Amino acid sequence: MKPAPFEWHAPASVAEALELKARHGDDARFLAGGQSLVPAMNFRVAQPAVLVDLNRVAGLDAIAHGADGSLAIGAMTRNARIERDAAAAHSHPILAEALHEVAHPQIRNRGTLGGNLSHADPASEMPAVMLALQASFLLRSRRGERAVEAARFFLGPLATALAPDEMLAEIRIPPLPARTGTAFLEVARRRGDYAMMGVAAVVTLDAGGVCTAARLACCSAGPTPMGAPRAAATLVGTRLTENDMTAAAALLREEVDPMGSVQASPAYQRHLAGVVATRALRLARGRAA
Ligand SMILES: Cc1cc2nc3c(=O)[nH]c(=O)nc-3n(C[C@H](O)[C@H](O)[C@H](O)COP(=O)(O)OP(=O)(O)OC[C@H]3O[C@@H](n4cnc5c(N)ncnc54)[C@H](O)[C@@H]3O)c2cc1C
Repeated sequence: MKPAPFEWHAPASVAEALELKARHGDDARFLAGGQSLVPAMNFRVAQPAVLVDLNRVAGLDAIAHGADGSLAIGAMTRNARIERDAAAAHSHPILAEALHEVAHPQIRNRGTLGGNLSHADPASEMPAVMLALQASFLLRSRRGERAVEAARFFLGPLATALAPDEMLAEIRIPPLPARTGTAFLEVARRRGDYAMMGVAAVVTLDAGGVCTAARLACCSAGPTPMGAPRAAATLVGTRLTENDMTAAAALLREEVDPMGSVQASPAYQRHLAGVVATRALRLARGRAA
């Protein structure tokens, strides 16, 4: 298949890119790594009249490490680069762990974090990870900029809080407190496939081994990345024993809303959610300790 005809613009600056998006609105799409947009155009599922190519725009692909352990990642940073960033692996090891499950190395070499998040595929790993890390997204337009929490960014399958004239410019990830353990685990039919179920877990322990904070978020578990706040809340104040984790996983199974696919029925996905959540929590607990 070949795409429908389109106009192509290659701005050199963010200001120029935002000007083009403001002028063309919903008729225009930003082109990042092209790993989702180009196949969709070739199948004519997407037929943007205008492409605003971000690949020549300066200043959108930096990884900034804050002295407090926070991260600010430019939207055009390639997934492979984040996966290999030693400082990010130290401050937020869950990023590399989850990115390793995103497609194949060739796709991660081109695909960007901003493109992955803007695409908002509910089966995608990184939106769930961003939810668990309480990340926020810097959105820019000619009108100004605003920060949107991950929890408010994903509105539905392939739908986000981005306005027609806005660009996702930067992903901001807060530092993880001391004695915090993280884990991302998924079950997929084949390596590199979208997951039938994936779970991101973040737990913080005090010096005595009692859980002081916990967050759980799942991919392929509903119309958006799905947090499981009720399940996570039950873990706070516990020692994360096997019983505590099994009880939380049972609640999480009720909080997710899987849609099913050719590979797995919603009931099987729900079952997987409990199994994967328990394993991810066990791993995160071990790492926190
Ligand atoms: C065979 C295959 C397997 C894959 N498997 C997985 C997988 O297992 N897990 C997974 O998560 N993904 C998977 N993907 C998708 C891949 O991760 C894509 O790279 C990613 O979803 C899109 O990133 P991109 O940079 O290529 O964005 P593009 O394809 O260029 O853009 C995607 C969408 O985001 C918009 N966009 C891009 N950048 C911005 C921005 N800065 N601001 C606003 N809007 C923007 C575009 O206009 C477009 O609508 C797979 C892709 C392929 C081809």
